[in-house]
Amino acid sequence: MSLQDYINRINVINENIEKYSKNPQKVKLIGVTKTFGIEKMKLSIKAGITTIGENKIQDAVAKFEKENFDNIERHYIGQLQSNKVNKVVEYFDYIHSVDREKIIKKIDNLKSNVKCLIEVNTSGEKSKGGIEVSEFEKFVLAIQKYKNIQIVGLMTISSLTTDESEIRKSFRQLRELAKLSKQHETENIQFNELSMGMTNDYKIALQEGATMIRIGRGIFGSRK
Ligand SMILES: *Cc1c(COP(=O)(O)O)cnc(C)c1O
Repeated sequence: MSLQDYINRINVINENIEKYSKNPQKVKLIGVTKTFGIEKMKLSIKAGITTIGENKIQDAVAKFEKENFDNIERHYIGQLQSNKVNKVVEYFDYIHSVDREKIIKKIDNLKSNVKCLIEVNTSGEKSKGGIEVSEFEKFVLAIQKYKNIQIVGLMTISSLTTDESEIRKSFRQLRELAKLSKQHETENIQFNELSMGMTNDYKIALQEGATMIRIGRGIFGSRK
């Protein structure tokens, strides 16, 4: 793909943000660079990408060590093992996949500026991470005691289905949870950001209030 191809693809996504979101100026496009190499990443950055997402700490660190992506905002979107938390916090600006108290406690102890989102399992699929919807309120109350961690919002991955109404239900549920949880917000635990929507479903996510969309294939092409 040429630079122009990247520019065209990013333009299409930006046009869709304007078209489908009620608050387009609040939407951040995350270019999901997982599995794609440094040359493709650099081209996408030349084409306008300012925020990237990676899901494997080893792969991400290998890229960040080779190439200076210092001016690029880095989002960790993969499942989080507690023994990798230190590394993730060191290399990333955001973590989208915080889903248990043990992880919260670790990040809280590090007193880092990393911004966190709580992953919620809105699809009910067992293979996916995230707090169960029915457990969410209890979880939020349990973590109110942590005063250092910066929680800025919620994240979800919709069901792997072509049924649009199922997908919309997932996203709507995340928005509703954020709204219901407003009453439990603290100075450092807030739910303003909604990270939802990938290449196949980001238009629906935008209609349902996404403030962060995570797009891989829609920018970089299919993964092998
Ligand atoms: C891979 C991945 C994406 C991007 O998926 P595409 O279908 O390539 O857009 C977004 N979010 C998460 C959590 C991912 O793992």
